[in-house]
Amino acid sequence: MSRRGHIPERRCIGCGRRRPRTELARFAAQSDGPQTRLVRDDRSRLPGRGAYLCPGSECFERAATRRGFARATRVSALIIDPALAPVAPNSEDRR
Ligand SMILES: [Zn+2]
Repeated sequence: MSRRGHIPERRCIGCGRRRPRTELARFAAQSDGPQTRLVRDDRSRLPGRGAYLCPGSECFERAATRRGFARATRVSALIIDPALAPVAPNSEDRR
């Protein structure tokens, strides 16, 4: 991956569209004691299989409903906190 100016594409697990990785939010599974929960991985630091999603809660909800996260991370008993749903970029300046 050394080609300059090339942005790899990833598939959103909510809607299935391919988009540049920079436009997608990454999520990963992280073990928390006996449980494994979904965490947001903004810096792409977590090991394991990542799940990529469009910004906005629509794709998040779709992925959560269809067990897309469990499939993407290969963790069947994944705990998903609904508060992880990404916010649309233009709603962040309200904070
Ligand atoms: Zn999507």
